[in-house]
Amino acid sequence: MSFYVTTPIYYVNGEPHLGHAYSTMAADVLARHMRQRGEDVFFLTGTDEFGEPVAQQAEREGVTPRELGDRLAPRFKEMAAKVNASNDFFIRTTDEGHQKRVQEVVQQVYDNGHVYEGTYEGWYCPRCADFKTDSEIAEGNTCPIHGIELTREQQDNWFFRLSSFQEPLERLYAERPDFVIPDFRRNEALSFIRQGLRDVSLSRPKLKWGVPVPWDPEQVIYVWFDALLNYYTALSYAREGKDLTETYWPAFHLLAKDILKFHAVYWPAFLMAAGLEVPRGMVIHGYLLMGESKMSKSLGNVLDPFDAIDRYGSDALRFYCFREVSFGRDGAVSAAGFESRYETELANDYGNLASRVLAMVDRYRDGTVPNSEADPAIAEDFKGIVTRFSALLDKTELTVALDEVWTLVRRLNRFVEETRPWDLAKDEDEAGRLDQVLYTLIEGLRVTTLLLLPYLPVSAERLLGALGEEDRGLAELGSRGGGQQIERLGQLFPKLEPATG
Ligand SMILES: [Zn+2]
Repeated sequence: MSFYVTTPIYYVNGEPHLGHAYSTMAADVLARHMRQRGEDVFFLTGTDEFGEPVAQQAEREGVTPRELGDRLAPRFKEMAAKVNASNDFFIRTTDEGHQKRVQEVVQQVYDNGHVYEGTYEGWYCPRCADFKTDSEIAEGNTCPIHGIELTREQQDNWFFRLSSFQEPLERLYAERPDFVIPDFRRNEALSFIRQGLRDVSLSRPKLKWGVPVPWDPEQVIYVWFDALLNYYTALSYAREGKDLTETYWPAFHLLAKDILKFHAVYWPAFLMAAGLEVPRGMVIHGYLLMGESKMSKSLGNVLDPFDAIDRYGSDALRFYCFREVSFGRDGAVSAAGFESRYETELANDYGNLASRVLAMVDRYRDGTVPNSEADPAIAEDFKGIVTRFSALLDKTELTVALDEVWTLVRRLNRFVEETRPWDLAKDEDEAGRLDQVLYTLIEGLRVTTLLLLPYLPVSAERLLGALGEEDRGLAELGSRGGGQQIERLGQLFPKLEPATG
């Protein structure tokens, strides 16, 4: 089976920030998890470089739009690498392969009779590069997303007959209840559709910074259609001399709530109009809100993702974001909260457990995992974890899935306290019980660490190495026997001294 996952492509009118990192990390967790399940995964991210906002930003900076893109696209590439994203390709909408394919698809939509010429007048937000419907206009005639005043615009455009896709879209939503998750976002999209869809402009006149309309080079394709098409076009040229479309399309999209309408309404309609398969589904996430917070010990007041990674590593940031904020909802993050979770959960709950267990096997059993059977109480708590966890990630419940594993990590810590292996080791008659306890702990660590691998790719990899585990597939407790040689491990998440100065 194949699994194709995408992040939104990031607009190059500013530097990457935590919001971009969050989308990329979430898609990466899914990609890594699906690879562990043996799926043939393709993971795409990239940059969106055309359109009015980029042209305007370039003008303010006194550079050409292409120069702006050439400067910022590498910053987004670096960001992906920095959060340890395992993307298979990085698309730039200025890529020739993309533009060529966009023109082909748009021509197809035209040939299928879904495009006509007309004049559009309405309230327009230049930052969204979008006209607003009446229900989308905030108080004082402003954009609800950007808070800036809307302008009255009139344009001679090519139009996409979105209105004729109202029924097909309603049918799609009825037939596939999980097309958009979570539910409350699905309802939002569906109610937008049910209000009645108006045709939308497919092109922009005058503006030079875009992909030319194939049958009317005086106009460029509206940046949203060009951008959305990246998910489809990338497969046609990501691997030289090979078209991956058949293998991977349709995609599963991951995006933030501000671009819901484009993805959940315009995009499937446009694909239908081109005669292409609609996406496999999409998950909409909320925002990480950076409120006022008390000063943290070393990161200061604001959680800067790049500072946090430089000091604590990318695993710590990935873990914190999905642990702290329920995925799908908005939630507050802070530098102090980040450091607190790092210490109490990563360093204490998990890191200490790992080094303690490995040290005990080293000390009491010369570093060889005993042959035994799992403790029945722990086996009961772990029962079916792979199925439960996988089902949660199938619904992109990144936070609930992580909670499930963390409950088990804490259960293993309690098991150490309950069984007191250091006391068992003093009593020759308890040798069998000590074998069982150590075997159970090693198995528990192995199973939880395999599940955590997509969230903590660097540290989980280190720990699996120390556990002598070569397989990266998910495993149930007790599925590996004893006899392996383990290695001691230093602190996975070392305590950091507060920064000075
Ligand atoms: Zn706006």
